[in-house]
Amino acid sequence: MPELPEVETIRAQLAPRLEGRTLTRVEILDPRLTRPYDLFEVADELEGDTVLVVERRGKYLVLRLESGLALLVHLRMTGSFGFTPATHERAVLELDDGSRLAYRDVRRFGTWLVLETADIEPYLSAKNGAEPLGPRFTVAWLASRLAARRAPLKAVLLDQRVVAGLGNIYVDEALWRARVNPLRPANGLGAEEVARVHRAIRAALRAGIERQGSTLRDYATPDGTEGSMQDEFRVYGRDGEPCPRCRTTISKTRAGGRGTWFCPRCQPLAANVLR
Ligand SMILES: [Zn+2]
Repeated sequence: MPELPEVETIRAQLAPRLEGRTLTRVEILDPRLTRPYDLFEVADELEGDTVLVVERRGKYLVLRLESGLALLVHLRMTGSFGFTPATHERAVLELDDGSRLAYRDVRRFGTWLVLETADIEPYLSAKNGAEPLGPRFTVAWLASRLAARRAPLKAVLLDQRVVAGLGNIYVDEALWRARVNPLRPANGLGAEEVARVHRAIRAALRAGIERQGSTLRDYATPDGTEGSMQDEFRVYGRDGEPCPRCRTTISKTRAGGRGTWFCPRCQPLAANVLR
């Protein structure tokens, strides 16, 4: 599933090609994409409108339109955009410069939602907590959110209403960087550990953005380029391999219902005070 770095990469590639462009023709081919709303009605709302700006909030792409409406796209498992025709196309946008942007989705969990101006912020705020690369995401803020939860740290960090945009990959990578075990109760971390987790989340996400995301299975960028973050995973998917820091064999467990990779030595179950 695309996480913040992948969605940000897609946003950055779509923005220059969509901003200022009018949607001359909108065809939605899969009723699942817009349900419970009728696909023809949604296509009708979008057709003729002009894209002002392409933004990202958490894992949502937000296309703000001249009319005041916004199209919110969530890629879920396998959604992607591309300017060349492909299989599994679920929607097609034709632009006034003659280009054709297709939305593809093999597993069909992605969603397109058109919202009125007044509904955009309330909807996005209800679904998304702090942007981890934004000014609201401070150490104090993270500490207060973790202190309120005794679920495993990993599960709390996967909750989009806490930190927006994190998913299975970047949580594991961040906790390895922070040297904190993913199964620790969120409210059991010391102040210094919280600060490490905060710093590590930002570092892991920035590394992912720099490398245009991770290319695993169905992730593709609109330009057809590939991200390279998968070559630099420190723990994710690497059970049985040596930890890049201490050479201990990386373990796999489950946390928050997800496969979870960690180094049992760098990320002990007990509090890990570094000196
Ligand atoms: Zn290690």
